[in-house]
Amino acid sequence: MKEIFLCAISNISSGNCSEDCSFCTQSAYNNVDIKKYKQKSSEKILEEAIYAKNNKAIGFCLVTAGKGLDDKKLEFVCKTAKKINNEIPELNLIACNGTASKEQLKELKKARISSYNHNLETSEQYYKNICSTHSWKERFQTCLNVKDVGLKLCTGGIFGLGEDEQDRISFVKSLSELQPHSSPLNFFHPNDKLPIENKTFDIDEALKWIAYTRKCLPNIRLMVAGGREITFGKRWPEIFQAGANSIVIGNYLTTFGNKPNDDIDTIMNLGYKIAKFCK
Ligand code: SF4
Repeated sequence: MKEIFLCAISNISSGNCSEDCSFCTQSAYNNVDIKKYKQKSSEKILEEAIYAKNNKAIGFCLVTAGKGLDDKKLEFVCKTAKKINNEIPELNLIACNGTASKEQLKELKKARISSYNHNLETSEQYYKNICSTHSWKERFQTCLNVKDVGLKLCTGGIFGLGEDEQDRISFVKSLSELQPHSSPLNFFHPNDKLPIENKTFDIDEALKWIAYTRKCLPNIRLMVAGGREITFGKRWPEIFQAGANSIVIGNYLTTFGNKPNDDIDTIMNLGYKIAKFCK
C-alpha cells in the first residue's frame, strides 16, 4: 500500500525580506499585505509542532524569511529545535533558513535538525528572471553543503513563474544531479501584487510535471507543497497517481491550506496509508 508522508511548516519570521524574489509575498520589494513579524517565540513554535504531530505530520519545518542564516537566527533555530526535540523526539525537524555555510549547517545538525530545505526554485538559466539579489549558483552550493555535512537534503522549486518547457526539464535535471532525500514541488499561487502573470497553473499540465519529476527521480520523497489547493482544487488527490507521495498538511507560509482533517480523511478514503516514520 502506498504510504503518504505528511509535513507541516512554521513560518518563524515573516515578511520584510531584503531579497527580490518575484514569486514571494514576503519580499519587501513586492509590498504584499501579509502578516509580518520578526520572530515567533519558541513556545509558540512548540505549540505548532504539537499541533502538527497531532495531525499526523512526521516532519516539521522551521522556516525563516531572509537571504540566509546569521548568528542570531542560527542560535534561535538551534534553541527551538532542541526544545521541540525534547518534547516530541519522534518528529523529524527540517530547517529552511536560506543560504547556509557548512559550519552553520553543522550547528543545525548538532541541534538535531535532520534535514535542510533550500529550493533551487527553477532552472539556472531562468533564475535571473525571478531574482536579481542572489544567484542560482549560490542556491545550488547551499544544497551541496547540506549533503556534505550529512544532513538530508530537501530541495525543489516552483512551477508557473513564466518558465518554458526547457526550463522545467533543466530544473528537474538539476534536482536529479543533487539526488535529494525529498523534493517539494510548488505551484505558483497568484497574487495581483506580485510581478508574475496572475494565473493558476493548468491542472493536467501540473500533473504531467509531477509525473515527469517522478520519472526522473524514482526513489525520492516527492512532495506537492504550496499551491496545491488553488491549482488542483477537488482534483488534488490525483497528485498521488501522478507520482507524489508527500504533502504539506495545514497552512503554508503566507497562504491557507485545507483543514488537516479533511486531507487526512481523503488520503485514508483513497486507501493510502499515512506514514508513521521518516525513512
Ligand atoms: S529569499 Fe525567501 S523569503 Fe526572501 S523573497 Fe526570496 S523566497 Fe521570499
